[in-house]
Amino acid sequence: MQPIHGTSAFRTHLDPFTFPEHGMEADTTYELLHTTLMLDGRETLNLASFVTTWMEPQAEKLIHDSLRKNHIDHEEYPAASLMEEACVHMLGDLFHAPDPAEVVGVGTIGSSEAIMLGLLAHKRSWRDRRQEAGLPTDRPNVVFGAETHVVWDKFANYFDVEMRKIPMKPDRYVISADEVAEQVDENTIAVGVVLGTTHIGEADPIEEINDRLVRIKAEHGWDIPIHVDGASGGFIAPFAEPDLKFDFRLEQVASINASGHKYGLVYPGVGWLVFRDRTKLPEDLVFSVNYLGGAQPTFTFNFSRGSAMIQAQLYNFLRLGRAGYSEIVATMLANARHINEQLAAGDWFEILNPGLAEPVVTFTLKGDPGFDVYHLSGRLREHGWIVPAYSLPPDAEDVHLLRIVVRIDLSRQMIDVLLRDLEDACAHLAEEQPGARKRPAPDVWTAPALMAAHQKSRTGQRRD
Ligand SMILES: *Cc1c(COP(=O)(O)O)cnc(C)c1O
Repeated sequence: MQPIHGTSAFRTHLDPFTFPEHGMEADTTYELLHTTLMLDGRETLNLASFVTTWMEPQAEKLIHDSLRKNHIDHEEYPAASLMEEACVHMLGDLFHAPDPAEVVGVGTIGSSEAIMLGLLAHKRSWRDRRQEAGLPTDRPNVVFGAETHVVWDKFANYFDVEMRKIPMKPDRYVISADEVAEQVDENTIAVGVVLGTTHIGEADPIEEINDRLVRIKAEHGWDIPIHVDGASGGFIAPFAEPDLKFDFRLEQVASINASGHKYGLVYPGVGWLVFRDRTKLPEDLVFSVNYLGGAQPTFTFNFSRGSAMIQAQLYNFLRLGRAGYSEIVATMLANARHINEQLAAGDWFEILNPGLAEPVVTFTLKGDPGFDVYHLSGRLREHGWIVPAYSLPPDAEDVHLLRIVVRIDLSRQMIDVLLRDLEDACAHLAEEQPGARKRPAPDVWTAPALMAAHQKSRTGQRRD
């Protein structure tokens, strides 16, 4: 047999514009794609992302066992769907639902699906209440802050709901109860609050916002639900700060989402949506299908989906328990605090989230050292570290920062190397001043860049 690396597969471009006429050997195909994927960043060094990059071998084995299962086939795979149910109720317990047996919820592809489904339920409940009272239903609005994830804007856009987005302040990156009170009215379907904000990693003052909405309910009769976006913080706060009230202990909190694939410590794609109780999920949003046998309720955007990550979630719940999650969360927070302290003690940086609501460190350059965070991000990339640089949303758009997300597979040993690389990068960039040699950001291989490279090499090449 011809050696794989001597075959034509290794001599020709992968053509992304033509459906292949003939196939190739399985081993060759594997080797070709396996080597091409090495162009990607290394997952563990990708400090841009919250999404889990390490699981135990036993969990991976369980995932492998379930790869052939389509999760929607509840009738055929009752054990798999029982696991989803169990996760929902366990989360109800973790989030202090008055009665964990009464919560309803669903495993989703991620928090984005969970947030859209949750808000859709609140929109429908609002509409039903208004219709019953004979009031107009044509002007729904949703109130949240600029510190939220893009999915909140998507919801408003996709589902025709007026977005009342509270801007950031140049020096304050979460919303306040006063700002929320100014925005809400009888047409507010929900207020969105975040536990672990996307841009900074802080928490909105959820209890204060709840208390204000309770007062507004007494004064105006508007019963406005809170949806808590706990995508990243939902699996941190219950373990790191059990007394922090962000959840169903607060009267107006009607629904919570959390990303199983972030600090739930599961590989991508699993998220969770949990309602306080079944009254928060209007029945007419739940469809019943019978063509898989039996009658099954479904409340999701996707139909078919993999079942493996749901099993992997229950694996973690059983394997770790509160004690195990608490230990891992404490370690990640200690490592993040170490980064915080080291950076704060040095000359270059100012920390933006000293409070550490989650294991995320956001920081900006002190003064103007002649280079910026984008240069630094590029330099770190040369060492394999992926540390994103970005600016905050309005009205804090002049703040340019770097963000390091500490995950389970980032050890103190690696962090110390990262800190040294960061220090070296600053020193080198400073040496290159003055003359302010602003270097363009390094070329990063993106799918369009790979396709353009292919296009270029194909031009002038005769096809036969
Ligand atoms: C990651 C994140 C989301 C989106 O969650 P996915 O699981 O990636 O769909 C929403 N909100 C916040 C605060 C996030 O951190």
